[in-house]
Amino acid sequence: MSFRNGIGWDSHPLAEGRPLILGGVEVPDAERGLGGHSDADVLTHAVIDALLGAAGLGDIGHHFPDTDERWRGADSIVLLREAVRLAAERGWSVSNLDATVICQAPKLAHHREAMQARLAEAAGVATDAANVKFTTGEQMGFVGRGEGIAALATAALKR
Ligand code: MG
Repeated sequence: MSFRNGIGWDSHPLAEGRPLILGGVEVPDAERGLGGHSDADVLTHAVIDALLGAAGLGDIGHHFPDTDERWRGADSIVLLREAVRLAAERGWSVSNLDATVICQAPKLAHHREAMQARLAEAAGVATDAANVKFTTGEQMGFVGRGEGIAALATAALKR
């Protein structure tokens, strides 16, 4: 069997008056959400870039540009499904995903299972093949100062 790996990274600024959506899950106890053209789901965006990278399909900005009105307020899980479909057209299916969300606040661990379930469903893998981890910025940098949230992901595809 043939395998490919990809990585993805994204960050978005925290903004008033926006819901916080991560891994397709709205975090109800968040005081602020993330700003961006789509729903600004930074975790799903990192996963999409990892998948596109593994499939040799460029990046999220190429497929879903933020200058395109079609993607204003877009549900990023829909974009993830499209990335999975594009990879499948090239003969690749998802083997596993792994991601880390770097967020100072709020605490996110109790949303882990819901995020893993949504990402796994969209990617067509078992829940334990869509792992999500959380870490803080240890008060350092833009994450630590509460200016934004970042996410890092890897994806493995199998032929
Ligand atoms: Mg993004």
